[in-house]
Amino acid sequence: MTSERKFSEMDSLESFDIISEEEVKEFRAALEEGNLCAAGETINQSLKDIENAPLNIAVTGESGSGKSTFVNAIRNMDNDEEEGAAKTGVTETTKEPKAYPHPQYNNVTFWDLPGIGTPNFNPSDYLKAVEFHRYDFFIIMSSERFRHNDMELAKEIKSMGKKFYFVRSKVDSDMYASQMRRKKSYNEAKIMNEIRDDCIKCLHDGGIQDPKVFLLSSLDLNKYDFNQMQETLEQELPSQKRHVFMLCLPNISFPILDKKREAIKKQIWKWSSVSAAVAAVPLPGLSVACDVGILVTEMKKYRDAFGLDQGSLEKLADRFGKDVNELKSVIKSPIVVKEINKELVTTLLTRGAAGSLMFIEYLASNIPVIGTAAAGGISFGTTYLMLYCFLKDIAEDAVRVLEKALESSV
Ligand code: GDP
Ligand code: MG
Repeated sequence: MTSERKFSEMDSLESFDIISEEEVKEFRAALEEGNLCAAGETINQSLKDIENAPLNIAVTGESGSGKSTFVNAIRNMDNDEEEGAAKTGVTETTKEPKAYPHPQYNNVTFWDLPGIGTPNFNPSDYLKAVEFHRYDFFIIMSSERFRHNDMELAKEIKSMGKKFYFVRSKVDSDMYASQMRRKKSYNEAKIMNEIRDDCIKCLHDGGIQDPKVFLLSSLDLNKYDFNQMQETLEQELPSQKRHVFMLCLPNISFPILDKKREAIKKQIWKWSSVSAAVAAVPLPGLSVACDVGILVTEMKKYRDAFGLDQGSLEKLADRFGKDVNELKSVIKSPIVVKEINKELVTTLLTRGAAGSLMFIEYLASNIPVIGTAAAGGISFGTTYLMLYCFLKDIAEDAVRVLEKALESSV
């Protein structure tokens, strides 16, 4: 097989969209030298860069608009008594930006910024004081009526070359009030459109073209515009940051579960290449040890990303008023309830050996670059198969668990 053919097929691997051009070049160069180990090292580094990409999200708006409550909800914390939760309530004010790292993904930080409510509010001074340049983007929270300050701030954020998303918060209260007022003609979609159109119009009138507005309730984050917001942010984030953003979202909607599955799937071939590269090092025993290590860490990451660990399951049960054992009853993958460790993975590896050999043949014909790498072939195939099957099982479990959680109790 010529290297031209191999590399042109490599181009078609969709996963390359989260590795930069430069890294792809490096990887090619490494392979051209016939050095699979160096190639593995390159991929390994790019995987680490993607997983550790810092993401700083600023949450701003008037005092009382729901900033702190949102910062907790998005980090899957339902009340402010939890360790690491932001204090909320009408009398709680923040004088300085306060960092709230995501409990699972520490490189993702939500910043609870001081309220913007003072009468002689100066957006430019405010943004300088909160060190605007350190944030990837801003979320402006606004409850009830649209306020002039929100627009001034939005304009200033834009002029400083940053992105903002406008969140109209506490929509649950608007719905409740409308329901009380118009018992017969209540129409949720219509009210949502009215509120959204009003916010867009006000921002538009202030000279902001095409503003992104989302209606949310931090008390019911899985409702209203949360999925649209998640989609938009994902699309607009630089590709290096997209992966970690997807993984850190709470597992409260089916589109999020789908996206997580896709995001993780894109990484599988890379981890498999890393393990293949290690297998090419002629040291007896090293390959197996490394494979198992990669598998254990990756499988744990998948389980936690889908919230199938004990702690997350308890929270989910709590959030939807269910019993945690009821949620657990729909989990089929045996590995989820056991501790994921080297012994368990080794057992699975030996058990699945015959199947993975067949799978390697299939892979070899589909992913030529790595599939045909002589020594690496077996290790690549086994790692790929294990991770692929595990991801599939665990993602399906997560869907079943969420279905159960959302089931209305009769
Ligand atoms: P901050 O000053 O912007 O940080 O606002 P907080 O997060 O402290 O919220 C102010 C008040 O609004 C608190 O009493 C919250 O419980 C309440 N609140 C926040 N978000 C929501 C929401 O989505 N729906 C409802 N109904 N109340 C909310
Ligand atoms: Mg606050």
